[in-house]
Amino acid sequence: MSRDVQNSTLKNENDKFIFLDPEELPTSWYNIQADLPEPLPPPLDPTTLKPINPELLERIFAKELIRQEVATERYIKIPDEVIDAYLRLPRPTPIYRAKRLENYLGTPAEIYFKCENFSPTGSHKTNTAIAQAYYNKKQGTERLVTETGAGQWGTALALASTIFGLKCRIYMVRVSYQQKPGRRIIAQTYGAEIFPSPSDQTEFGKKLLKENPNHPGNLGIAISEAIEDTLTHENTRYSLGSVLNHVLLHQSIVGLEAKKQFEKIGKYPDIVVGCIGGGSNYAGLAYPFMEDKLKGKSEAEFVAVESKAVPHTTKGVYTYDYGDSAGLTPLLKMLTIGHTYETPPIHAGGLRYHGMAPSISYLIYKNYMRSVAYHQTEVFEAARILAKTEGMIAAPETAHAIKFVIDEALRCKKTGEKKIILMNYSGHGLLDLSAYESYLAGKLVNYEPEKIEVPQFSY
Ligand SMILES: *Cc1c(COP(=O)(O)O)cnc(C)c1O
Repeated sequence: MSRDVQNSTLKNENDKFIFLDPEELPTSWYNIQADLPEPLPPPLDPTTLKPINPELLERIFAKELIRQEVATERYIKIPDEVIDAYLRLPRPTPIYRAKRLENYLGTPAEIYFKCENFSPTGSHKTNTAIAQAYYNKKQGTERLVTETGAGQWGTALALASTIFGLKCRIYMVRVSYQQKPGRRIIAQTYGAEIFPSPSDQTEFGKKLLKENPNHPGNLGIAISEAIEDTLTHENTRYSLGSVLNHVLLHQSIVGLEAKKQFEKIGKYPDIVVGCIGGGSNYAGLAYPFMEDKLKGKSEAEFVAVESKAVPHTTKGVYTYDYGDSAGLTPLLKMLTIGHTYETPPIHAGGLRYHGMAPSISYLIYKNYMRSVAYHQTEVFEAARILAKTEGMIAAPETAHAIKFVIDEALRCKKTGEKKIILMNYSGHGLLDLSAYESYLAGKLVNYEPEKIEVPQFSY
């Protein structure tokens, strides 16, 4: 009898949510640079094309973030103030078992979502925004500057800035600023200043506006404006929401929690899935599990999902490239489709970056992970299935990963495999309803580059 009760409790938890108590929140981040088979190639100075001296970056980034960027120790302690802010997001986030989706698909596979959509701004981006704002505050920065595309990163940094008492300025790509007011209003409500980019706030922006007063802008231009603003204002630093090693480090909280959660139910994922824009949410979930694979302790599969419109890892080249379209930032060795690639206007704004985090690029290049790409119409079909079965409205970015999960679950149905699938549910789509409206009206357009030209830099 007591045994039955025990079993049914376990089954229950396993069937719906897996929670962690606040005291179980991990207290260190995991740094994959400690376990990669070889060191990552160094970033290059854009003027000399030689490895950059990290100190040169101190005018742009907080010191501790630069240290973390090149750190090789396996664990980095999370400061108490950051732990406190994580707990109030709240973290730990639950893992949700998508049982109704499983039943609908008739699959023997088990589908688990790590729920990063529960953050106040609706995505995982707060995990690094909080850490970055904290280290800046601690070294005396008064003002943070950044860019944002669709606005997820802007809202996360605006929230973190108000938590730590920093001023925040955001350059938002003009088309998104005009077409997607929701996240702009959230950032303003948190107290951030937000300008459509190109703006009249920088020399670069003014030059572009003179040429075209209705310039639609793009992420590369917004980055250039944010960096110019940083360099021309006292006590100001720049903040980036993805791609860099320190951002992926902060996101490891997601996978560290997930690992503890799976230990609780006595299981281990067979396949770890996530969408990739710059790579931060996926690395965050995947790397603590990848540690086991790199050490020969697991044979889990790792699948990163991208858009066919921006096929950085499925069609890109593994080479040095700039981080922005103007060519002002250091060059990173990464899978890229070229910094001058004109990203098509897909609804998944967070997947519209030309490059990929250096460590993800390396792991894909060396076949520790694989990647797949989908068109947005099939992605929204998958999002619709999720909505109708689980009631969840996924962010367009997250929906890319859903599409793979559904395909994989249906493949398992054919083979009878009882695979355990773990996916990062990176964000909700309640501020992306215009994308759903286009889908429902049959108006979504698919894009695919005809050819990809990536300039080759040797070092
Ligand atoms: C920004 C964003 C992404 C893409 O960025 P990554 O750095 O690759 O995680 C994915 N999903 C959501 C919800 C986002 O806001």
